Amino acid sequence: MIIAIRISSYYVQPSKQSEKLVIFSRQKTIGNPITMRGRSLHTGNYVKLSMIPAPADHGIIFERADLQGEPRVPALWNKISKTMLSTTIGPEKNSVGTVEHLMAALFGLGISNVLIKVYGPEIPIMDGSSDIFVKKISEAGVVELNKYRPFYKVRETFQFKSKAGYVEISPSNQLVFDCKISFDAQIIGDQRYIFNFSKDSFAHLIADARTFCQIKDYEAMKASGLVRGGTLDNAVVVDVNGKSVINPEGLRYHDEFVRHKLLDAIGDLALLGHPLQGHVKLVSSGHGIHAGFMRALMRAPKGIIEKVTPSLESSQENELMDIAAFA
Ligand SMILES: [Zn+2]
Repeated sequence: MIIAIRISSYYVQPSKQSEKLVIFSRQKTIGNPITMRGRSLHTGNYVKLSMIPAPADHGIIFERADLQGEPRVPALWNKISKTMLSTTIGPEKNSVGTVEHLMAALFGLGISNVLIKVYGPEIPIMDGSSDIFVKKISEAGVVELNKYRPFYKVRETFQFKSKAGYVEISPSNQLVFDCKISFDAQIIGDQRYIFNFSKDSFAHLIADARTFCQIKDYEAMKASGLVRGGTLDNAVVVDVNGKSVINPEGLRYHDEFVRHKLLDAIGDLALLGHPLQGHVKLVSSGHGIHAGFMRALMRAPKGIIEKVTPSLESSQENELMDIAAFA
């Protein structure tokens, strides 16, 4: 049973102040079940996906509803099994692939409790962004539960670096992502996007940025049996000259590439289970670096992050906001 509290003094009306509470506030779930279908990017198959409301402290759990026994995999960093081109969780026989865009949509809307039934090995790619997930979830409604959401407050700077790039977190009173990418293709080049979760809207600025690839990589991936479901309807494809995209409708933003990298990072880092409160710098990062960062952070010495669990008894909504913003 879902216990949802909508007592007027607790219910947060949409306002500038409530945006501050999207992450650091009460736990949330979806208001109604959601069912959707779409094509998987890598397998090319059409799959059904259902999202079911869940109670506080349930977390986000994926269920392989097409398999006998309906095995479940919690959406957590220590369940990541593959990071090539997308993020897969769970063991080979009952894994769930391409979870990052759906995870980003849930994180962006502050939802931390839901059961996701997927009738195949991969989450549908939809239009290559989080946009359709955000719209479906918004239509179903977001419900606040009777418990506050724990978060990880960053106390010390911590960096995880690989050959390709790095992720660095440092203390901040808010959750800020600063993402930088650098590509040889002229249409991408060097791009940077700073996204402040406390002030900016995920749904309006990030959610509809699509995944992208270069035509030469796309052809190589196709030849290796990957991206069987890849079309111009679910990815931005950069032309061989690197100066344009072959999608007839063009780009949604001139910096759609870095916005999508930010979306991927938000979706991957949602696998920490609780949001970070800190400044997150992402330089040429990707799924593999995000996974490595989370493993290293969760095994790092004490004192780098602190888990804060605000309690319902000890705080009113405004006090909680103070805890989140100024602790
Ligand atoms: Zn992506």
